[in-house]
Amino acid sequence: DEGLRRMKSWVKKLALTGILAAVVVTSLSGCGNSGSKDAAQQKKELIVGTEPSFAPFEFQKEGSKSYDGFDMDLARAIGKQMGYKVEIVSMGFDALIPALNSGNIDVVAAGMSINEERQKAVTFSEPDFTESYYTSGLMIMVRKDSNVKSIDDLKGKTIACQIGTTGEKNARNVANAKVTAFNTNDEAVMELKNKGVDAIINDSPVVGYYLAQGGNASMKTVGDIMEAEQYGLAVKKGNDKLAGEINKALAELKKNGEYDKIYKTWFGEVKK
Ligand code: GLN
Repeated sequence: DEGLRRMKSWVKKLALTGILAAVVVTSLSGCGNSGSKDAAQQKKELIVGTEPSFAPFEFQKEGSKSYDGFDMDLARAIGKQMGYKVEIVSMGFDALIPALNSGNIDVVAAGMSINEERQKAVTFSEPDFTESYYTSGLMIMVRKDSNVKSIDDLKGKTIACQIGTTGEKNARNVANAKVTAFNTNDEAVMELKNKGVDAIINDSPVVGYYLAQGGNASMKTVGDIMEAEQYGLAVKKGNDKLAGEINKALAELKKNGEYDKIYKTWFGEVKK
């Protein structure tokens, strides 16, 4: 029975050790949790949302996972200036504002035009139109053999555009036009190529880039650039702190020549 007694006491000790170990592990992991939370806060990561069918502002080179373009370089430079690590995530253009407001992303960098409607939903960096990071405007693109000469000629015609964009809004204002909104600009251009529509309405610098990259073999623009649109980086509505930090970083990049350098990379000249 001595053996049994010893065994019982051994089991008791083992159990006690186990409990002690569990307590130590629990408290350690508790400590670990709060430690990693602090680390996450210190890491200061900026999640930037975009829709990458908008060259030269955001796009992915064939077979590449990284994001290229003016907005992407600018977002990375702004993040660096602010001391944040930048992660870029991609989604549909019409999903960007909801993602911002649900907290899934921190910033939208997607050639997003500042307008009153959007200003009700989000806060833009540099909403002062004279100071925006890029001045754009819409343009009509048709096939080379088209006899469309202006927006008036699009009445009753078929127009492709990207969903949720100012291009879509303008297309829907054309009397009796049949508008098809695609998830990406690439699909809209494809539809025009395939003669599924008569025209597309998209941002002028994007249409220009497409033509310059060889699109001019089969396509052309007609008419003038429609009214000026200013691009803004958007943050969650009311996050003036983040918008302020972005504005400050952007001002710094404009001052130290970094903005001009990025602008020149993508547009071949310095912004006037
Ligand atoms: N500038 C346009 C807009 O804000 C188009 C943007 C885009 O297609 N990425 O709606």
